[in-house]
Amino acid sequence: DRGIYKTSKEALKAVFGYDSFRPGQESVINAVLEGRDILAVMPTGAGKSLCYQVPAMLLSGITLVISPLISLMQDQVNALNEAGVDAAFINSSLSEKELNDTFKNAYKGHYKIIYVAPERLMSEGFISFAKSIEISMITVDEAHCISQWGQDFRPSYMDIAEFINILGKRPIISAFTATATQNVREDIICSLGLNDPYFLVTGFDRENLFFQVDKPQNKERFILDYIERHRGESGIIYCATRKNVDSLYTLLRKQNISVARYHAGMSNEERKQMQDDFVFDYTSIVIATNAFGMGIDKSNVRFVIHYNMPSSMENYYQEAGRAGRDGLNSECILLFSPQDIIINRFLLEHKDFSDIDPIDAMTIRDRDIKRLQIMEGYCYTTECLRNYILKYFGEDPKKPCDDCGNCLRQFETLDMTDEA
Ligand code: ADP
Ligand code: MG
Repeated sequence: DRGIYKTSKEALKAVFGYDSFRPGQESVINAVLEGRDILAVMPTGAGKSLCYQVPAMLLSGITLVISPLISLMQDQVNALNEAGVDAAFINSSLSEKELNDTFKNAYKGHYKIIYVAPERLMSEGFISFAKSIEISMITVDEAHCISQWGQDFRPSYMDIAEFINILGKRPIISAFTATATQNVREDIICSLGLNDPYFLVTGFDRENLFFQVDKPQNKERFILDYIERHRGESGIIYCATRKNVDSLYTLLRKQNISVARYHAGMSNEERKQMQDDFVFDYTSIVIATNAFGMGIDKSNVRFVIHYNMPSSMENYYQEAGRAGRDGLNSECILLFSPQDIIINRFLLEHKDFSDIDPIDAMTIRDRDIKRLQIMEGYCYTTECLRNYILKYFGEDPKKPCDDCGNCLRQFETLDMTDEA
């Protein structure tokens, strides 16, 4: 029984109004429909929800979606309801009566999709409910929450495996995350007991971004020249410390360059003002620590320059990725000096672990050191920078991009040999 839709394409169009799938979506959906477990790693915004919502329309029973945040669940259920899909959520925001109504509706066959908070899974009421309905698939959204290596570990995600064991019949298990590191991936597969999962990593490439690592003698000089060559363009310059932000800010102001600064040492009002000035194009350039950018959605950022090396590829790619949201060509330039390694090691050694279990603290420190080493590798590698990034995030690029600082440098070398 495939419900009222015959194919995934048909459900995509009828329910969500889209004509075509994004990269990766269709292959995940097909694998689900073949009955396989899934681990899909796709960056934020790539369209992971459809990968389980579309097959949920086609499977005979209910899809349970485990999701970490109440607000996220509500948004998704609202969106589904608006699209005409009967969906519900079960979390601590429901009253006793609402909860019972939801159970009753589910028994009557109302829902194809039910979102549930991980804390609910092992409650008696939910277990007896889950045992008495047909569950076709269990989807674990934000699956990195199951791993202590991830950023947002949620102990209740550890209950999922036990919950699945309690169910009489094992449904399809599909897991989705944007965090692609090897450790997290292995934790997800292992903790959820995924059975020979269809594994997909996709969508980390940003074709319109040009990557380059530069090792200038004088970083300030580099910045001044760069801005001179990119007059009127909007950009972000990230520095490792407030002190660097302030001194670069003073330097650029002296040159009458329209520039703002942003770091955690400023008052809330000041920061809000700076952020607004930048977003509304009153100032074209902002110099900031990594405190800047959370929730920033400015589409026409033409360059992101890192004045210092960040502490991990995760951070670097997230910050650099704020360039070129509009799809137009943009540059991501990292200014590297060996001093950056010293700064980062210092920051790592002085990280405050006082409120963390000592064993966890050791694990996290290990992880941070490894991440830093991989970041250093990016600064020293002569291979394609884009490929270095994509490989780190688990993709398997087939050939150099021919369009990053390193690839272009290699062409220069080749050209010279030709002439000789
Ligand atoms: P993720 O969970 O991977 O961060 P979402 O599932 O929230 O991403 O999707 C991000 C946005 O992309 C949503 O607005 C969604 O409607 C849109 N989207 C997803 N798939 C498609 C598609 N095939 N065609 C057009 N838009 C899509
Ligand atoms: Mg999502």
